[in-house]
Amino acid sequence: MKLKFLGGAEEVGRLAIKMDFGGVKAMVDYGLIPEKPPEYPLPPEKVDGVFLTHSHLDHAGSLPVYFNKYDANFYATIMSANSIRPMLEDTIKIADIEGYTKMFNKDDISQLYSMLAPIKYGETDSLKDLDFTAHNAGHIPGSTMWKFTNSTDLLVTGDLYTRDTNLLTAASPVHAENLIIESTYAGKIHEDRQKVIDRLRSRIKEVVGNGGKVILPTFAVGRTQELIMTIADMGLNIAVDGMGNTITSIYLHTPGFFRSQNEFRKAVKKTMHVRGQRDRMTAMDADVIITTSGMLDGGPVLGYIKNSLEDDKSAIFITGYQVEGTNGRSLMENGTLNIDGSSVRPKMKVEFFDMSAHAGHDELIKFIDGVNPKRVILCHGENREKLLPDLANYEVILPYNGNEIEIN
Ligand SMILES: [Zn+2]
Ligand SMILES: [Zn+2]
Repeated sequence: MKLKFLGGAEEVGRLAIKMDFGGVKAMVDYGLIPEKPPEYPLPPEKVDGVFLTHSHLDHAGSLPVYFNKYDANFYATIMSANSIRPMLEDTIKIADIEGYTKMFNKDDISQLYSMLAPIKYGETDSLKDLDFTAHNAGHIPGSTMWKFTNSTDLLVTGDLYTRDTNLLTAASPVHAENLIIESTYAGKIHEDRQKVIDRLRSRIKEVVGNGGKVILPTFAVGRTQELIMTIADMGLNIAVDGMGNTITSIYLHTPGFFRSQNEFRKAVKKTMHVRGQRDRMTAMDADVIITTSGMLDGGPVLGYIKNSLEDDKSAIFITGYQVEGTNGRSLMENGTLNIDGSSVRPKMKVEFFDMSAHAGHDELIKFIDGVNPKRVILCHGENREKLLPDLANYEVILPYNGNEIEIN
C-alpha cells in the first residue's frame, strides 16, 4: 500500500490523502485552508473513489477541484454530503466578491453530486477488490472514519471526538493493522466537558441576570447546533443568526445522526431564527445570540458586537479554537477586534470555554490503544511529535505533504 499526503500532514487544514491499494486508488478528503485567499492541497491525482470524512472546509472545501479534472465515485454519509453543498456554493460567492482565483465552478459541484454514493454507519461497500466500511467519528453530525480492507487494512479517522456530547455519540475504536489518525490536540488535555458546560451555563445566567447579553461567535457546522442543545432549556430568549441556520435546517431534514433527533427538534423550536434585517433588530435585544463567524472574521457577529461595544455588562463567550491571525485570536490575546477596517476594543467581557470537538492528547492515546494497530500514521497536527513518548509500542510515521510512503 502506498500513501501520499497532498495536504494536511504536518498542518491543521487542507487534508488530502491519496492511497494506492495496488489495483485500486482512493483519496480521503480534499480540503482547503480557509485563508484569504484559501490555500489548496497539491494538485489532485486520478483515483477510483473519493471518500469524505466530514463537512468542514478543511476536509471538503476543494472536492469540486478534483471533479473539475477527473471522475471518481464519491462516498460520504448523506449528512456530510447535504451539509457541504451550501458551503461550497458560498466559497464561489466569496471568491467572486473578493476577486480570488476560482478553483472550481457550479458545474464542478454538480459533477461531485452526480457521483455521490451515500453510505450509512456500519455499512460495507466495495470498489473492485477494496472493501470499505463507514464508522461514526463523533466529531460533527455525519463525520465518518473509513476502514479500508484488501490484503491488509487501514483505518482513517478524519477529525475525531471520543466522548458523547449533547448532540452526538462518541467514536469507538475499530481494530486495524494501520491507522491514520488526526493529532490536532497532541500535547494538550481538555478540561472535562461537563464541567465546561456547567460553567458556560452558569456564566450565561450571571451575565443575563445582571442585565447584560451574551454573544456566542460560533461555527455554522456542528457547534451552532450543539450550543442550541446546550442552552435551549435555560428559559432565555435565544437568537440564532448566520449560516448556522441553513445548516440547522439541513440537520432537521437529515435524520439518523443525532443522539436524539426529537430532542434536537424541540431545542431548535425554543430559539429564534434570524431571517433578515428586521429580525436582526429584534435579535439585538435577545439574552443570547448564537452567530457566525466562529473566528469573528466576518458575518453577522460583528454587527452584534458593534451594537454593544460600550456595554460592560455584556459578554462575548468563545467556545471554539481561534486560529492565529484571526480576529478571534486578537480579541482573546489583546482585547481588540478589527471591524470595518478599524481596530476597536469592546468593553464586553471576553471568556473562553473549551468545547473542542477534537480528542485531547490522552483521548487520542486511549483511542489508538483501542484500535491496537501495528503502525500509526499521525497527521492533521502541528505538534505531532508530542504523542511519540506515549506511542513507544507502535511503529509511528510522521508523514510530510508530498512524500510517498510505502507500507507492507
Ligand atoms: Zn473538522
Ligand atoms: Zn479538520
